[in-house]
Amino acid sequence: MKEKIKQILAKRAKIQWFLALGFIALNGVLFFVTPRAAYIPFFVLPLMIISVFFWSRAFCGWACPRAAFLERILSKVSLNKPVPKWMNYYWVSVLVFIILISRVTYVGFTRGLLAAGFLLCLVPTIGALVVGWYSPKSWCAICPTGTLLKTLDRLQIARFKIAKEGKCTSCGACDRVCPMGVEPSKVPLNSGIEQMNCTQCAICTASCPYNSLHLPERLNNHIKQGVAVR
Ligand code: SF4
Ligand code: SF4
Repeated sequence: MKEKIKQILAKRAKIQWFLALGFIALNGVLFFVTPRAAYIPFFVLPLMIISVFFWSRAFCGWACPRAAFLERILSKVSLNKPVPKWMNYYWVSVLVFIILISRVTYVGFTRGLLAAGFLLCLVPTIGALVVGWYSPKSWCAICPTGTLLKTLDRLQIARFKIAKEGKCTSCGACDRVCPMGVEPSKVPLNSGIEQMNCTQCAICTASCPYNSLHLPERLNNHIKQGVAVR
């Protein structure tokens, strides 16, 4: 099983490199070619929202270009500190969400959709760069889009969670590798990681010496059938 997890993580790394380079290219287009690229968030956001109903917050862990840029590229120059605990409080992310969305709405009504889209691209990227120097994935804890996704995920429709089963000695190896500051060691056995900031990235599953952390059941079934690793 460890081998399969490694293959999945290797695949995730490839996807993220592609997304991270795409993120840089998109910002290049936005700033140097055409500001019309600022319309893109309005097309992507509905897809992200729909994804919650199938894969919880896995979009953030697997498909977000900004998160991929933070994890694959910014982490090379970041201090790589853990996500500060206060950033993992839900109300902090809600506050950031309210501030950004009220500003974007105001700009949308006064200066048009393109200006609102530009703000939606620019502010999260600046925010991610600022906090990312300290802790690469800390932006994902307070990202307004992530906040929208985790709020919807509270409806618990997808049930796409990392499961904890078998033996756990609370060694904390999984806590140390989690880029989001989630602590799988504190999750009770025979349950799923329900913390809102878990992005189902699966990094922790490879770290457990007892193989106690498992990929979401649906993904696991694909692996067993050999679909996900082909
Ligand atoms: S790495 Fe495994 S054994 Fe160690 S705390 Fe995490 S789940 Fe428990
Ligand atoms: S708990 Fe595991 S799956 Fe969730 S974000 Fe942390 S490392 Fe990724």
